[in-house]
Amino acid sequence: DPDTGLDPLEFSVTRNLAAKSTTDRDAILANPGFGQSFTDHMVDICWSVRGGWHRPRVSPYGPISLDPAAAVLHYGQEIFEGIKAYRHADGSVHTFRPDQNGRRLQRSARRLALPELPVPYFLQSLRELIAVDGAWVPSGDDQSLYLRPFMFAKEAFLGVRPAHKVAYYLIASPAGAYFKGGVQPVSIWLSEDYSRAGKGGTGAAKTGGNYAASLLPQSEAYENECDQVVFLDQDRNVEELGGMNVVFVYKDGTIVTPQSDSILEGITRDSLLQLARDRGHHVEGRNVSLDEWRQGVASGDVVEVFACGTAAVVTPIGVLKGRDFIDEQPSGTLALELREELTNIQYGRADDKHGWLYRL
Ligand code: PMP
Repeated sequence: DPDTGLDPLEFSVTRNLAAKSTTDRDAILANPGFGQSFTDHMVDICWSVRGGWHRPRVSPYGPISLDPAAAVLHYGQEIFEGIKAYRHADGSVHTFRPDQNGRRLQRSARRLALPELPVPYFLQSLRELIAVDGAWVPSGDDQSLYLRPFMFAKEAFLGVRPAHKVAYYLIASPAGAYFKGGVQPVSIWLSEDYSRAGKGGTGAAKTGGNYAASLLPQSEAYENECDQVVFLDQDRNVEELGGMNVVFVYKDGTIVTPQSDSILEGITRDSLLQLARDRGHHVEGRNVSLDEWRQGVASGDVVEVFACGTAAVVTPIGVLKGRDFIDEQPSGTLALELREELTNIQYGRADDKHGWLYRL
C-alpha cells in the first residue's frame, strides 16, 4: 500500500462445498428483506498482542466457536460497521466511500480499546469476500449487498481489561429496497426518559452497547405508534435516531445538523451535505436544541427535517411525537432530491464527481 507501506494480506480461501444453488440464491435475491439471509462465505482475521494481525481467511459462512469466558460476552468489547455494495448496469460491483468506514472502524476501535485494523486490510477484506460471493450482489432497484464488518474481544479471561486476543470478521447479507412503493415519511418518538450516550461516553463509536441501550426506548416508540426514536443530550440538544443522523433545512436554505462528540458521524450525512454544498447551500454543524426544532417548525423557519443513514439512505421526518405533544413536520423536496442524487452516484447512474465509488 503506497500510504502505509503495508503488504497485502495473503488470505487462505476455503470454498463452501454446501454453497446455495443458483436457484436458491436467486429466490433469496428476489426478495431479500434485510439482515436475514447471508452469503456463502465470511472473512476473518485474528489479532493478538504478540502476533498482531494474522491468519487472514475466507471460509464457509457458519457459526463461530467461542470460549464461554470470551470477554465480549461479558464486557461488550465489540465494534462494527455497515456498508453496502451496489451492482451497476454493466455488472460491476462498487462500494461507496469504504475508506470512511475503515477509518470510522479505527476510531471505534480506539474508544473500545481494540486494535486498529489498517484501512488497506479493511478494504482488502471487502474485495476478498466479493471475489467469492460477488454473485450475491442483487441487481434489482434499490437492492444491495449489505456488508457487516465487526470486531470483538475473544480472549477467555474474566478480568476487566482490553483483551489480548481479538477477531475481525466480515459477513454479508443481501438487502432489498428499504421502502417498498416509494419513500415514506417516518414518525419519531422523543425519548425523554432514556438517553443513548453521554458526554465522554461511547456515542461516537459504532459499538453494540449503544444499540442495546436503544432497544427499550425503541419499544417505547412502537408503543406510541412511532417508527423511530430520537435522543437528546443532557442539555436537551437533539442528537440522532437509533441508527440515523438528523438534518434540518431552514427557510433561507441553510442546512443544520447536530454536531457533538456523542453522535455517530454518518457517512451518508457527510455525503448528502457535500451534495447540498455543491448546490450552494450553507451547511452548519452545531447544537440544535429541542426548543429550536419545535419553535422553528412552528414559525415556519424550519422547512424540512430528515434522517439519513446507510440502510434507508434518506427518510423525511413526518411527525415528532412527545409525551404531551404531536408536531407535524413541514414537507419539502430537498431530502428526496438529495436522496436521488446520492443513489444515482451509488448505482452508477450519475457522474461520480467526488470519486466516492470504490470498485470491488
Ligand atoms: N447514527 C447511528 C447511531 C447509526 O447506527 C448510523 C448507521 N451507521 C448512522 C447514524 C448513519 O451512519 P451512516 O450514514 O454511516 O450509515
